[in-house]
Amino acid sequence: MKCEYCDIVDRKSRLQILYEDNDLIVAVKDTVLTPGQVTIFPRQHFTIMEMVPENILEKCFILANKVGAAIFDSLECQGTNIIVQNGLSAGQKVPHFALEVIPRRDGDNLNFQWQPKELAEDEVELVYQMLKEEVGKIVKSKDGKKGKVKEVEEVVVKDEKTLMKMQKEDEKNYLLKSLRRIP
Ligand SMILES: [Zn+2]
Repeated sequence: MKCEYCDIVDRKSRLQILYEDNDLIVAVKDTVLTPGQVTIFPRQHFTIMEMVPENILEKCFILANKVGAAIFDSLECQGTNIIVQNGLSAGQKVPHFALEVIPRRDGDNLNFQWQPKELAEDEVELVYQMLKEEVGKIVKSKDGKKGKVKEVEEVVVKDEKTLMKMQKEDEKNYLLKSLRRIP
């Protein structure tokens, strides 16, 4: 199987590795949106995010945060976009899960802005109901036999403080606001 990121892992590619450990690779590619863009991906080949074990996924995001700090310090940028193109429809080009850390500078003319459109009230209600049922199934299930469900539950427990805060602030309001960000 030909995979650009597995080639980096196997040193078949001349692309530069900035950091590596047993689980992850941090590399600089030759085709990027802007100089300083860094790609973080698991050493093992996983096509999409849902396939990545949670401990590795966790490490990916922690590393993205650290790499982001290094980018701020060394390249004097004013911000970063951290992007996952998860699936073909999301613009994924390499079939190997990766996080892109993209340095941003004022006036760099990269456009990641999209215009949210306001949904009709019944559309909001419909997606809310559909999501609520499915999210409830995945996040709140106590069925330990389903490995994936259990893993998700563990993550939610870790993040309980945030969830509680959200609920206090008005759970429905939060979901509606989030929905409006969907392009
Ligand atoms: Zn691969």
